[in-house]
Amino acid sequence: MTHAIQFDQVEKSFGALQVLKGISGYVAAGEVLSIIGSSGCGKSTLLRCLNRLEVIDRGRIVINELEISRSNLSNHELKQVRSRIGMVFQQFNLFPHLSVLENLTLAPQQVLKLSRRDSIDRARYYLQEVGLSDKIDVYPEQLSGGQRQRVAIARSLCMEPQAMLFDEPTSALDPELVGEVLSVMHRLAERGMTMVVVTHEIQFAREAASRVMFLDQGRVMEEGSAREVLTNPQSDRLTAFLSRMRQAQIA
Ligand code: ADP
Ligand code: MG
Repeated sequence: MTHAIQFDQVEKSFGALQVLKGISGYVAAGEVLSIIGSSGCGKSTLLRCLNRLEVIDRGRIVINELEISRSNLSNHELKQVRSRIGMVFQQFNLFPHLSVLENLTLAPQQVLKLSRRDSIDRARYYLQEVGLSDKIDVYPEQLSGGQRQRVAIARSLCMEPQAMLFDEPTSALDPELVGEVLSVMHRLAERGMTMVVVTHEIQFAREAASRVMFLDQGRVMEEGSAREVLTNPQSDRLTAFLSRMRQAQIA
């Protein structure tokens, strides 16, 4: 039995710039892996590779037994990959001209071929999960940033993905809106969603992540239980990174 997500020796370059220099890791089913590291170290690129938004140069990525790094992936398989892995970005990427309900029902109808009725039932269910049942008919611009991000999470959940990838989901938010998004993510983690979370919220990583991976310049510099990595860093680079994070959060 392989892990829910497994990646081995992943390399990725953009032109002459090698961004991922042989990264390996895994996420067990129902586990939360948090990825931390300085800006530019390759966190977003790794997430995008896991969803095959980027094609890797070398290495291997297996998601629920499907090797998504194969060059001969069929369109059908590619669609499966995308619909089974939810992705939540820093910018919420909701369709501004569609209501919350329409944002939530579009992909389930088009990709999963759900009936309109079933897709609406699902949308209601997951909107309730993120505490926004009363916003079903409004447009994204009528929502706060925190509410938009919760809608974006609900939209992902409507696809009933096997795993979810979060790329700094709270870093575009005003500080007072961060908590409501983190608490939705906490709840997802408690319910056993397999999650990879790129975050600067060290507190969230400590509480919700089972494991933490520290990337530095395209390599895994430290990796282990959240407690080990966050309270007992082995490298100067991680020690310095954590102290910068702590200072930024106090400031
Ligand atoms: P992080 O998310 O850790 O801040 P990224 O994965 O976004 O880092 O980026 C890592 C490096 O790769 C950066 O130097 C960035 O400029 C570069 N990069 C990312 N995406 C592209 C791209 N599509 N084309 C060229 N360079 C890119
Ligand atoms: Mg990034």
